[in-house]
Amino acid sequence: MSPTTEPAKFNTLQTPNWCPGCGNFGLQSALKKALGQLGLLPHQVCLSTGIGCSGKMAHWVHAYGLHGLHGRTLPVAAGIKLANHELTVIAEGGDGDGLSEGMGHFIHACRRNLDFTYIIHNNGVFSLTTGQASSTGRQGRETATTPHGAIEPPFSPTALAIASGASFVARGFSGDVEHLKDIYVQAISHKGFAFVDVMQVCVTYNREKSYPWYQDRIHKLTPDNHDAQDRNGAMALAMGGTDEQLSVGVFYQDNRQAYEAALPQLAVAPLVDQPIGGVDLTALMNELT
Ligand code: SF4
Repeated sequence: MSPTTEPAKFNTLQTPNWCPGCGNFGLQSALKKALGQLGLLPHQVCLSTGIGCSGKMAHWVHAYGLHGLHGRTLPVAAGIKLANHELTVIAEGGDGDGLSEGMGHFIHACRRNLDFTYIIHNNGVFSLTTGQASSTGRQGRETATTPHGAIEPPFSPTALAIASGASFVARGFSGDVEHLKDIYVQAISHKGFAFVDVMQVCVTYNREKSYPWYQDRIHKLTPDNHDAQDRNGAMALAMGGTDEQLSVGVFYQDNRQAYEAALPQLAVAPLVDQPIGGVDLTALMNELT
């Protein structure tokens, strides 16, 4: 077992300006603890974040980071992983960022199975832009863009990830940092695409889903009550969830080969460490100019 790292190694000099009580503090704390438990150091980790309150994570976790375009955190993370597959790559974004703008990327990231972790801060609302309805918000909920109540039903990102071929699928809660840390440790250790849907409290624009609201409904998955290798069972669980019982833990995991393991170009060394001196780029440059 590798030695652990003090989570404070991932602190930055900036103080997060999330609203007091925001669930993002829980996700940030769980991530630093997980990276520390895995014995990782800041120069071994790279975050790719989208636009939204959650996107600030790249600023407030001391590691490499790129705070990119809305909905594009997954292709950026994929590029980082392919350029240097020895990095621990973590993509983070909100439900608005990843399940509206970035939905197409999500499905293909699941089936492609590159070895990185994707964490969705799922608060059921576009929060940075002051409270518009998102695709995971409750049907009938009144928001800035649904003043008479949302007409469409929400969908389950957990079920979509399983259906799309993700090799690790889990769900956590921002109000249980230790449990969330344990899920992150498993997700980051997994060799393939690991998706974690985190039910994140937004105390400003989604007050109906408060900490007590979630705590009353949380149901923890364990090996005794759920077989994470049973894909059909995981799908049934993800599809059958109701607001009366919210399962958290590892829904599904398999061991299929990660995408980059099939690339002979990466077998020698990460691309960033390979010499490019002998490569003739003339034809490419001529085509581009
Ligand atoms: Fe957190 Fe919501 Fe405030 Fe954004 S608006 S910082 S998600 S509580």
